[in-house]
Amino acid sequence: MNELTYKILLGALVIAMNFIRLHYQRRYKTSHPVTEAEIAPKREKRMTQLMFFALVVPGMMWLFTGWLSFGQFALPDVVRMAGFVIGAYSMWWFYRIHRTLGDNWSPILEIRREHTLIIGGPYRYVRHPMYSDMILWMVSFALITANWFYALTISAGLAIMLTFRIPDEERLMTERFGDRYRAYMKRTKRLIPFIF
Ligand code: SAH
Repeated sequence: MNELTYKILLGALVIAMNFIRLHYQRRYKTSHPVTEAEIAPKREKRMTQLMFFALVVPGMMWLFTGWLSFGQFALPDVVRMAGFVIGAYSMWWFYRIHRTLGDNWSPILEIRREHTLIIGGPYRYVRHPMYSDMILWMVSFALITANWFYALTISAGLAIMLTFRIPDEERLMTERFGDRYRAYMKRTKRLIPFIF
């Protein structure tokens, strides 16, 4: 298969992802938008920038320029196609997770007015299914592009983001929900069901 096919496949995933995000972003702005508590707003802003430079910029370069061609490596078509299947699966989860979080979702770490604690559906076994899902994207994008440079920027960006964000997020949730969140932490894992 030629490279254009893979560009179209990656482009389709990116469009699907943005569709889902934009829908919930709009909801975020219009539904009870009062923030009760916020954590590390400055760092959150920096994290957003980090993801932009680690995920979006190199992704666009791969799609629309030949600048990352030095990072291409040989990968069988069947593996790259499997990458797309993983990506499509992860987009379906991305939607489901957003729908489950509903108005509790926010692009930054905060407690919203009328925030409720979600512990069911995708949240049943892991506390951060959306971040687990992003790890799936990472695998998917790395396989589709077959580009080690992109695989490196996206995994480093995500690793840095999650290392800072998860402890802060869990502190925020514990402050707001106390023993309920502590009990929830006891019976769940962070990112990978039953493992981590
Ligand atoms: N870390 C989660 C959610 C990411 S969205 C995941 O990976 O699925 C970030 C917002 O979700 C934070 O502002 C936090 O307040 C909220 N949040 C995180 N876990 C939650 C839960 N179990 N129930 C309700 N809101 C939650």
